[in-house]
Amino acid sequence: MTGLVDTDGDAPDERAALFPPSRAAALERLSDFAPRAGRHYAAQRNRDPGPGGRDNVSLLSPYIRHRTISEHEVITWVLARHSPEAAEKFVQEVFWRTYWKGWLQMRPSVWRAFLEERDSDRARLAKDDGLREAVAAAEAGRTEVDGFDHWARELVATGYLHNHARMWFASIWIFTLKLPWTLGADFFLRHLLDADPASNTLGWRWVAGIQTPGKTYLATIENIARFTDNRFSPQGLASEATAIRDEAPPPAGALPVPRTLQRGRRVLLLLHGDDFSGQEVLPEGTDVAAIAVARRSHPDMPWHFGAATGHWVDTLAEDAARRAGESLQQPATVLPQLDTETLRLQCAAAGVTTIATPEAPVGPLADALAVISDELAEDGIEVISLRRMWDDLAWPHATHGFFRFKRQIPELLARNGL
Ligand SMILES: Cc1cc2nc3c(=O)[nH]c(=O)nc-3n(C[C@H](O)[C@H](O)[C@H](O)COP(=O)(O)OP(=O)(O)OC[C@H]3O[C@@H](n4cnc5c(N)ncnc54)[C@H](O)[C@@H]3O)c2cc1C
Repeated sequence: MTGLVDTDGDAPDERAALFPPSRAAALERLSDFAPRAGRHYAAQRNRDPGPGGRDNVSLLSPYIRHRTISEHEVITWVLARHSPEAAEKFVQEVFWRTYWKGWLQMRPSVWRAFLEERDSDRARLAKDDGLREAVAAAEAGRTEVDGFDHWARELVATGYLHNHARMWFASIWIFTLKLPWTLGADFFLRHLLDADPASNTLGWRWVAGIQTPGKTYLATIENIARFTDNRFSPQGLASEATAIRDEAPPPAGALPVPRTLQRGRRVLLLLHGDDFSGQEVLPEGTDVAAIAVARRSHPDMPWHFGAATGHWVDTLAEDAARRAGESLQQPATVLPQLDTETLRLQCAAAGVTTIATPEAPVGPLADALAVISDELAEDGIEVISLRRMWDDLAWPHATHGFFRFKRQIPELLARNGL
C-alpha cells in the first residue's frame, strides 16, 4: 500500500470482544436487540453515546455484511415483536443495505472507478509529503479536531463506528481536512468489520456530493454535540460543503440473470465472505458431496480488509465451516484463499464437476469468481452462482433513488413471506 501507514496493530484490538465472530453471538445480539427495534430505535438511533452505551442501534452490521445472519432473518425477528408501523424505521435501514447492493450491482463501473481513483490518490501519497503526513495524522487520530480523532482511533481499535459518526467523519475528512475522499473510504474498508463495496463506497460518495447530485453532507458542531450527548464539540469545521465535483451517476444497466441449479445435482458447496450461510440458497434435494469455505479472496483480487479485520473474518469463516458441516453432515474444509488450483483439487477429491456458490455481489470476490469460473470451465468444471430470493426480488427496484425504492418495501416483505 504505497505510502500508507498501516495503522493495524498500533491499537489494542477490541474486535472479538465487542463482536464475537460467530453466528451464536449474532443470534444472541439479535434476540437481545429485537425488543428495542420498534419505536425506541426510531426515536434514538441517531444518538451515538459511544462504545459501551449503544443499546439504541443493533450492532449487527458485521454479521449481516458477511451473511452470518441474513436480512430476512433479522426482519423476521423484529416483525415478530413489533407492528410493521412501529418497526418501519428499522426495516427501512436494513433495506438501505439491500438498495445500495442492488444500485451498485447495476452499475459495477462505479466500483471500478473508485478503485482507479483510489489507486491514483495512493500514488500521489508517495510523491506528496504534505498529503502523506496529513492522511497519516487523520488515520492515527492526530488532527486535534475534537471527535474526529476519537473516531479514527475507535475505528482502528474496534472495527466499528456508529452511522452518524461515519457521516461526521467522512464530512470532516472531505470538507474540513480537504483530503481525497477515496483515501477516507479506503481507511474505512481496511478497518470496518462490515466494510462493504456498496454501502461504504456509496456512503462516501453521498457525503462528497457525487452520489445524489446537488446533495452533500455537512457536519456541524451543533449536530455533533447534540447527538454525542455533548461528548464532542469540534471547533473550526468547514462552514459549507460544495460537491467535490459535478458528476451524475451512470444510469442503471441490466442485472446479470441469476442461475439455477438442477434438482439433485451433486456439488461442491463453496462458501465465502459475502455469504457465510450460503447453504440456505441451495435448492432442496441438492446432493452436497463436500463443502469448502474460502477465508479470503484471490491473491490477485484481494480482500480490502487490513490485518486485524482480516483475522476477524477468518474466524467467522471457521465458524461458517463448522456450521455448514454440521447442518449438511459433510466434511468442510477452510481454504486460506480462493484460487483455481485449490478448487480444482477440492472438486477432484469430492468427485464432482459442479461448484455451487452463493452469488458474490460487485467486489473482489465477484471478480475472483469470474476469473476462476473461466479457468475451471477449461477442465469441465462449472461454477454456478446462486442469488438469494431476497436480492432477486429487491435489486431490480434499485434503479433510482431510495425514496422510490422504499415504496416497494411492503410488497417486498409480503413476497418474502414477512
Ligand atoms: C460513510 C459511510 C460508510 C459506511 N460504510 C458501511 C459499510 O461499509 N458497511 C455497512 O454495512 N454499512 C456502512 N454504512 C452504513 C451504516 O453506517 C452501518 O450499516 C451502520 O452504522 C451499522 O450499525 P448497526 O448494525 O448498529 O446499524 P442499525 O442502525 O442497527 O441498522 C440495522 C442494519 O441496517 C443496515 N444499515 C443501517 N444503516 C444503513 C445505511 N445507512 N446504509 C446501508 N445499510 C445500513 C446495516 O446492515 C445494519 O446492520 C456506512 C455509512 C456511511 C455514512
